[in-house]
Amino acid sequence: MADGQPQPDCLFCKIVAGEIPATVVRETDLTLAFKDINPQAPVHDLIVPRAHYANAAELAFGAPELAAAVLLEAREVAKTEGIADGGYRVVFNTDAHAGQTVFHVHAHVLGGDFLAHFGT
Ligand code: IMP
Repeated sequence: MADGQPQPDCLFCKIVAGEIPATVVRETDLTLAFKDINPQAPVHDLIVPRAHYANAAELAFGAPELAAAVLLEAREVAKTEGIADGGYRVVFNTDAHAGQTVFHVHAHVLGGDFLAHFGT
């Protein structure tokens, strides 16, 4: 069962540890927000908990207070990026059929334009 411990082969654990570079947007004791390397909208950031949980379901079940912290951080990232007023999208792809490719839970924060035509 997930316990939040770092996983040796996890890309986002390595970004959290500073072993792989990222363009950091915001950081807190619990979370890190950075630019998506392949943006699907004018603003496309990812928010990860520093602790490793595979997906949104495991995070919500294993550490509900941390799930809330990630959602609260989406609000702060939107303000930092200047998209809070226009509206933005928060997406958690959850497991393979949803298109999740990195199995360290992350919220996509997308905005900066009318988003109907953007995929995630
Ligand atoms: P998923 O498909 O929901 O798992 O999203 C994974 C996201 O991580 C994709 O949008 C990728 O573009 C993004 N990504 C993959 N590697 C990196 C990286 O090294 N830095 C920043 N974003 C990354």
